[in-house]
Amino acid sequence: MASPKLSVIIPVHNESANIAPLCERLLPVLNRITSMWEVIFVDDGSRDDTLERIRAVSRTEPRIGAVSFSRNFGKETAIAAGLDHARGEAVVIMDADLQHPPEMIETFVERWKEGYDMVYGQRTDRSDETRVKRGFAHLFYRLFARFGEIELPPGAGDFRLIDRKGVEVLRALGEKARFSKGLYAWIGFKDTGVPFVVEERRFGTTKWSFRKLFRFAFDGIAAFSTAPLRVWTYLGFVISFMSIATAIYFMVRTLLFGTDLPGFPSLIVSVMFFSGIQLMSLGIIGEYVGRIFAEVKRRPLYVVAERIGGAAEVSTSLVSDDFRYRRA
Ligand code: UDP
Ligand code: MG
Repeated sequence: MASPKLSVIIPVHNESANIAPLCERLLPVLNRITSMWEVIFVDDGSRDDTLERIRAVSRTEPRIGAVSFSRNFGKETAIAAGLDHARGEAVVIMDADLQHPPEMIETFVERWKEGYDMVYGQRTDRSDETRVKRGFAHLFYRLFARFGEIELPPGAGDFRLIDRKGVEVLRALGEKARFSKGLYAWIGFKDTGVPFVVEERRFGTTKWSFRKLFRFAFDGIAAFSTAPLRVWTYLGFVISFMSIATAIYFMVRTLLFGTDLPGFPSLIVSVMFFSGIQLMSLGIIGEYVGRIFAEVKRRPLYVVAERIGGAAEVSTSLVSDDFRYRRA
């Protein structure tokens, strides 16, 4: 089979019911663009029959393939694996739940042909999400804009087209704690956004719990052994808050009933406050130590259980390794 021009990579985790409707809508779009396309599903440790469904569509359409992980490694890692296996001149990343309208890919490709190396979908509203989630997202982006080293375009997510140049650079970034949105911005290149409206999830439920999102916001991806270090950060937060509550309590009490031991309330409040701050800063140092630990272990990013279709032509190794980008 000739090398494909356009690759579409789709991370899937328990998306059984979405595979067929997605293909039904995606394939006509791809066929309008070129016949030299490939679709690579990255099965991120699904526990339902997602992989069987993919196998079924792959039998009738060999341009559809899959990389199946040995367990759930997370969406960020699934994207990395997709980039490792994609062969196209341009690579599109999209979700499986039809929240990313496949028709947009035509616009992405037009833009790419105009000379943009990175074309991202820019969601125009977040009304599909709960208010709390939106609030936290807003806070996260504010903080990121303030303290992050790079600028994230507003509303941009993983739904995007990346030119081969960009793909090679992304693959060369060997880091384990992957925050793709940051990496896309970090590599630079000429980029542009295309606004779109996020559709309702087709089947199933979101795979992102609040806790998962929080952790994602915190460090990108599962660094499972930093948890004991991390506890102190939260404890520090709690104690700092408690000290403020205590301060208010003593203030109100003193105003209403006077004081029985001068100096005592302020002493307790400041002890609590500073021990809170100390724990918090220790925790934050712990975060970084934990990340360094994860990086120096040099574990492979993911473990492949099986490859289907075109994805199998790329590599036979069961693990991603840090030398993968040096492959000829
Ligand atoms: N996903 C994944 N691994 C995970 C969680 C999610 O591959 O651990 C995939 C999921 O199957 C979907 C995409 O990532 O194709 C986006 O997930 P989801 O729709 O649950 O996120 P949301 O749209 O709610 O942000
Ligand atoms: Mg979704």
